[in-house]
Amino acid sequence: MRIMAKRVAVLGGGVIGLSYAWELRRRGHEVLLFEAGECGGQASGAAAGMLAPFSENGDQPDDFFLLCLESLQLYPRWVEQVEAASGLSAAFVRSGSLYVAFHEADLLALETRMRWQNDFGAGARILTGAALREAEPALTGAAVAALYIPTEAHIYAPLYVRALEAACRREGVRIFDRQGNVELRSLDPVTVSAQAGAFEAEAAVICTGAWSGSWQEVLGLDVPVFPIRGQICAYAALPDRPVRHMVFGSQGYVVQKANGTVVCGASEDVVGFDTSVTERGIGRLERWYATLLPGRAGRPVHAWAGLRPATPDGWPLLGPLPGARHIVIAAGHYRNGILLSPATARAVADWLDDRAKDGASGVRAAGGGDGRGTGGGQAAGAPGARTWRPESFAPERFSGNRSVAWL
Ligand SMILES: Cc1cc2nc3c(=O)[nH]c(=O)nc-3n(C[C@H](O)[C@H](O)[C@H](O)COP(=O)(O)OP(=O)(O)OC[C@H]3O[C@@H](n4cnc5c(N)ncnc54)[C@H](O)[C@@H]3O)c2cc1C
Repeated sequence: MRIMAKRVAVLGGGVIGLSYAWELRRRGHEVLLFEAGECGGQASGAAAGMLAPFSENGDQPDDFFLLCLESLQLYPRWVEQVEAASGLSAAFVRSGSLYVAFHEADLLALETRMRWQNDFGAGARILTGAALREAEPALTGAAVAALYIPTEAHIYAPLYVRALEAACRREGVRIFDRQGNVELRSLDPVTVSAQAGAFEAEAAVICTGAWSGSWQEVLGLDVPVFPIRGQICAYAALPDRPVRHMVFGSQGYVVQKANGTVVCGASEDVVGFDTSVTERGIGRLERWYATLLPGRAGRPVHAWAGLRPATPDGWPLLGPLPGARHIVIAAGHYRNGILLSPATARAVADWLDDRAKDGASGVRAAGGGDGRGTGGGQAAGAPGARTWRPESFAPERFSGNRSVAWL
């Protein structure tokens, strides 16, 4: 099908806005991106960068998990293309992960996780005793077992957003940053009002992270996105004792980065738009770090915080507005926006191109994607071949199907 090139305004220059801008530009659209401050200067630059759909979704293979899994499958090829287009590394590492249990009683839960996650290509197995110590010598002896998931990966989020921004600029996305709060003057035609002037476009994508609730008046839609602060810190890595995997537990996670730090996160604080770092928040992380990786006394070398865009059900608002398909909202990626950037960029671009009426491109059979995905390779019809349903993320789901009244 031949796609008509459009002029698209992307609002917000976090990982979500940058990914969409890049994907739309690659498809031949004219793209204008508007950012209040610096691109990647909010949640996206603060993230730990874990690409961990299995560790983050322990309960069941619901639509959110399927969306996250699709994104992990897309990642290697996606990041390779971002790096090629930008000339910058994003430090993608397929380190695998360990989800650690400290009590025999928790083993059953790990086994249950492993069973359903292996239907989706996790390739997981439980490590105990000497096998666990050998896999991760840095880990405390108090850990009785861990679920090892070799297919999970991480990326260095500040580098990734920098690479995305550079890729956008090189491909010809017009980026207007440091614009303060940009406004939508009208939806049809789309009229954006920024410090750089007023701009008309044929379509708009709204990806303003934790600030997305501010659009509900103009969109005529309930947009219940709110900030959850994440405090996080980094320690100097020990060259002779690297942390090989992402290590998750009930209290948080640690992950060693290419820049020679071990990142330890993260709090979940309901404090509005406050991005300060507190003794209490970082103190809790310090205790967790010392419990998990003993013999590494000392204080973090760096501590920071960002605002995750949360929604009441924890899933993003993703899709065109009812009655105004040229306006797409993509907000509320909460704890997984870095992971979700390729899959949701593809879905949003498909919506604007009217390629997929229902929006879903879907998870391929586990191990699908680009052939370097999560391993497994099940037949269609197997659990791993299931796809996510776009209606689960419909932006109007909190508004009782109210359409844009005044269009
Ligand atoms: C401590 C922490 C750890 C995390 N770890 C992970 C992780 O390991 N893996 C993972 O996948 N995710 C992680 N996340 C979540 C991830 O960071 C977010 O889901 C993601 O960054 C959201 O991206 P975004 O583009 O929607 O939001 P943001 O990055 O916040 O970008 C939104 C942008 O919109 C701009 N904006 C707002 N209003 C306007 C306006 N009116 N006009 C113009 N611009 C506007 C803002 O300035 C901002 O730059 C973590 C988050 C935190 C805080």
